[in-house]
Amino acid sequence: MADDGKLHRREFLTVSGRIAAACALGGLATRVLMKGGDNSDFDKPGTRYAWRINPDNCVFCGQCATACVRRPSAVKCVNDQKKCSLCVVCYGHVKDQYVDSKKINTAPKVCPNNAVLRKDLTGGIDGPHTYTIDQSRCVGCAECASRCSEHGSQSMFLIIRPDLCLNCNECEIAKNCPAEAVERVPIAPEDDFLGEYGMNHGPTQNGM
Ligand code: SF4
Ligand code: SF4
Ligand code: SF4
Repeated sequence: MADDGKLHRREFLTVSGRIAAACALGGLATRVLMKGGDNSDFDKPGTRYAWRINPDNCVFCGQCATACVRRPSAVKCVNDQKKCSLCVVCYGHVKDQYVDSKKINTAPKVCPNNAVLRKDLTGGIDGPHTYTIDQSRCVGCAECASRCSEHGSQSMFLIIRPDLCLNCNECEIAKNCPAEAVERVPIAPEDDFLGEYGMNHGPTQNGM
């Protein structure tokens, strides 16, 4: 972070790269983050805005799951596949980091909703595995991201999904965030959140 509290362009590129590689959420989330780097957009008439999380500031306090006016929260976790170490034992997946690889499927999980999905890439139990987040189960509690940040490669992080966010004038999460990690950023006029994830019913529905 720069001293004035705004992200440098290089930092934005890093963040947007993480978003873009995270999962199918890439397109719109990337545009939202990239637009945040140009503050002149705030001065333009008709500018629209979106709330976003600066992953470098987040301290995984859990408020993203509980403070949002939506239930479940508009905040979801994603896993950057380019940054993920594809560990046999993922700290964001199972609670015991020393669990025998043969027993991972029955080991206690980090996610209370079992939303961190593990997939074998090679057919061997000790080979690389991918980890993705089931968006329909994730409530944005940050448990997996916290453990990945502390013990892993920091590939898991939280985003406010623009298609789910109600774009409140005052984001309740921003008001409660202890790390000032939630920011309002300008977005391009051509951005249309409806249908970005095949949800043409619009952002006010509760369905995922
Ligand atoms: S409220 Fe702030 S610090 Fe807490 S999980 Fe959300 S973004 Fe992170
Ligand atoms: S641990 Fe929390 S943030 Fe991570 S996938 Fe599960 S519900 Fe989502
Ligand atoms: S703006 Fe409203 S809907 Fe969006 S994340 Fe904040 S509280 Fe939730």
